[in-house]
Amino acid sequence: MAKKKTAKKTESRTPNPKSRHVYLFGKSRTDGNGGMKPLLGGKGAGLAEMCRIGLPVPPGFTITTEVCTYFYDHKRTYPPDLKAQMQAGLASIEKQTGKTFGDVKNPLLVSVRSGARDSMPGMMDTILNLGLNDQTVEGLAAKTGNPRFAWDCYRRFVQMYGDVVLGVQKREGEDHEPFETVIESLKQERYHGDIEDTKLTADDLKELVVRFKALVKERVGKDFPSTPWDQLMGAVGAVFGSWMNDRAIVYRRKYNIPSEWGTAVNVQAMVYGNTGDRSGSGVAFTRNPANGTKEFYGEFLINAQGEDVVAGVRTPEPVKELKGHMPKAYAELERIRQTLEKHFKDVQDFEFTIEDEVVYMLQTRNGKRTAMAALKFSMDMFKEKLIDWKTAVMRNPADQLDQLLAPVFDVADAAKAEAIATGLPAGPGAASGQIYLNANRAVEAADRKEQVLLVRVETSPEDLRGMIAAEGILTARGGVSSHAALVARQMGKVCVCGASALEVDYQARTVKVGNKTFKEGDWLSIDGTAGKVFAGRVKTAPSEIVAGLIEGDEQAKKTEKFKSFQQLMKWCDEATRMSVRTNADTPEQTANALAFGAVGIGLCRTEHMFFEGDRIDAMREMILADTLEARKAALAKLLPYQRDDFAGIFRVLKGYPATIRFLDPPLHEFLPHAPEQQKDLAKKLGITAEKIHTRVEQLHEFNPMLGFRGCRLGIEYPEISEMQARAVFEAAAIVQKEGIKVKPEIMIPLVGFKKELDQQLEIVNRVATDVQAEKKVKLNYLVGTMIEIPRGALTADEIAQSAEFFSFGTNDLTQTGLGMSRDDSGSFLPKYAEMEIVKKNPFATIDASGVGQLVDIACAKGRSTRPDIKLGICGEHGGDPDSIHFFEKVKLDYVSASPFRVPVARLAAAQAAISSKGK
Ligand code: ADP
Ligand code: MG
Ligand code: MG
Repeated sequence: MAKKKTAKKTESRTPNPKSRHVYLFGKSRTDGNGGMKPLLGGKGAGLAEMCRIGLPVPPGFTITTEVCTYFYDHKRTYPPDLKAQMQAGLASIEKQTGKTFGDVKNPLLVSVRSGARDSMPGMMDTILNLGLNDQTVEGLAAKTGNPRFAWDCYRRFVQMYGDVVLGVQKREGEDHEPFETVIESLKQERYHGDIEDTKLTADDLKELVVRFKALVKERVGKDFPSTPWDQLMGAVGAVFGSWMNDRAIVYRRKYNIPSEWGTAVNVQAMVYGNTGDRSGSGVAFTRNPANGTKEFYGEFLINAQGEDVVAGVRTPEPVKELKGHMPKAYAELERIRQTLEKHFKDVQDFEFTIEDEVVYMLQTRNGKRTAMAALKFSMDMFKEKLIDWKTAVMRNPADQLDQLLAPVFDVADAAKAEAIATGLPAGPGAASGQIYLNANRAVEAADRKEQVLLVRVETSPEDLRGMIAAEGILTARGGVSSHAALVARQMGKVCVCGASALEVDYQARTVKVGNKTFKEGDWLSIDGTAGKVFAGRVKTAPSEIVAGLIEGDEQAKKTEKFKSFQQLMKWCDEATRMSVRTNADTPEQTANALAFGAVGIGLCRTEHMFFEGDRIDAMREMILADTLEARKAALAKLLPYQRDDFAGIFRVLKGYPATIRFLDPPLHEFLPHAPEQQKDLAKKLGITAEKIHTRVEQLHEFNPMLGFRGCRLGIEYPEISEMQARAVFEAAAIVQKEGIKVKPEIMIPLVGFKKELDQQLEIVNRVATDVQAEKKVKLNYLVGTMIEIPRGALTADEIAQSAEFFSFGTNDLTQTGLGMSRDDSGSFLPKYAEMEIVKKNPFATIDASGVGQLVDIACAKGRSTRPDIKLGICGEHGGDPDSIHFFEKVKLDYVSASPFRVPVARLAAAQAAISSKGK
């Protein structure tokens, strides 16, 4: 098979002889292990590992992901020797269970389960009880002495197989799944609709099988396959086929899973949770994945097969209740819970079935968790000595960290608000929004920039787009393993599920609670930490972490959330090699960033300072000036403003470095373009509107991004650079005299030629000398450049002769490196992402293999001239975890991120350092 290029880190692959397609697992022999996810998929690897540590797993085999790749490379056919290997696999299962596939006396039934490398919840479909037909069902009934059970299995099998493999599904205009409609009408006929599924008799179930088969025949035009082997091959094909279904594709795109990975197929002996009251099925977590509490968490159903738990037809009970029903099985599960954590050293999400009080394990994987739970798990497991501190750092997903910084409900306002319902707190946080009851309308509303709350009876994979668009998700039904809870954990959505007081009416598009009715577009608020639902819009307050750090709120500092966060950040500082600065251009932003742990400014954009109040007028006057004298006069007005701004920032920084970029944007951005505004400005400046208009015309450019901007401005108008240098140094002198250390780093933008830099350098150094003489101080400063156009990167060795530091302006470097304007990319980039031409938006995550090379070259060349050159990055990518991993690879000294992204960057930088050392 072709070598796979993967965006994600891949686990080591044990060498696989090309001819081996099937890996056995079970008590007597297990070929795979937990490290073989790429080949066996997450489920297959997990089953193998559980067998290895002696947990009770029904025997089976895994067909590798390579067969999936083969399947798509060969017009949906299989490797020729697959069949023989599967037959050998079946023989092994038969031997271990004492049952025989297709046997009419003691039939072996199997499940056929998909399983990609990363779990893709709800994307792939599992088929249970495969191997049943009109003969084997009788055998099963006779052998177990439980005809009801046998026919329940058969009816489930025909239904699942009919749906998943044969495609008998809801059509346009149908309200219900066709099989459900058949069940419903039988219930009506025989019981006036008044009966639970579990109470249907063997005879009812037998009749259902007949009707289901008739339905299949009618819809598909073919008989339901009766040969177990044909059933098996059909199911395997359906699993592979589902890798390319729409839902799977949408999901993969969202999580950047390459389509080349493929899925494995697991074929496994059935164990039966539906034999009666001494059986059941459930899902559980070794700890609470919503808030992190160390408790056995999950749910189960008595007398049920696995899919019932998630299907939401019956309401499951909390797993702790099992203690009362089946104490022995519960004790066994508790033991398994401990074993799992000890072995995997992480919180596990597992699925189990109890057959006549005997527990069987059907799946385990690292549990998805909210950011809050991740933080608590990592702290607790460190204390329990299950993991070391570096592992604890790695356990917190950097891209989820800002969930912890997200606002919570204002306590006072929430107390006043009307709590209308409670549900399961499935995704911590606060969310208010206008309610929508279907995914499409939620997406449309979000496109209209509305704040949206998606409200459903329960969610299913079809709702994914709406869930992504919504601020929060609220469901009336469903527990911890419901789809909504799952997605909330995964995407970090605020979510309350199973708020049973809600009556959601899809037809009328209303939500009723008691005597209150809410229409689509009305506001509701949900507290996903407490599981509460409020009418209207509840005010939010800053997260405890923000309150503690930025507002110095003492109460907030006492919370566990705050303390854990601080501990995590302390570890990050210990682990990290790169430091984290911030992009800030006001004292306030700077103070916030420092509170979050930034150690300097990586980018202070001076032009932002020209927009405030009257300053813009002086700026415009400067741009409109005809002569050098007039320009200087206008600049003289700007000088004090700029000096004060810098002084304010220096004071806050207390000796931390500040990289200050000289004027960068094209000048026309400062002038008014509308005739009305031009008239107003003309009046203010005492000139004609005509003149302004002419100047605007003059400054007009076809490609402003590639035009008169960056150092080109300072080269044409040296007096601008002169003024800016003077403002920096005078401010530095003032603050230094106050007894505060100051470290300005002047940065010249858009340099492509060493000579450009030299020309500006001469001005900066001259002004520095002047100011130091005038103020009688000695200032400590650096002058460097931004590397943001390819020529600058490629000639970095020359530029480094003059530059004392480089800061990569990766926004422009991406634009110029790709020849793609960021502002215009919206019209074609989405298509590029869809077609996987680009794996990720290159403006959000650095294009490591392309633009990254420019960075790499510039680092090497810069260091070849000046070994101790300081290297940093100040583009948008400085706050992006994946990009930060790349910057660690090329050994930058620091990254710079916007103030509220600083914690994310610190975590990502620490993780990058830890994982690069691990290699
Ligand atoms: P998913 O990937 O959607 O979780 P699974 O393959 O795990 O799908 O199957 C869903 C459920 O089906 C399992 O949790 C389990 O309860 C049930 N199941 C799967 N295989 C078996 C089996 N061999 N015996 C009994 N139940 C099974
Ligand atoms: Mg599962
Ligand atoms: Mg730039």
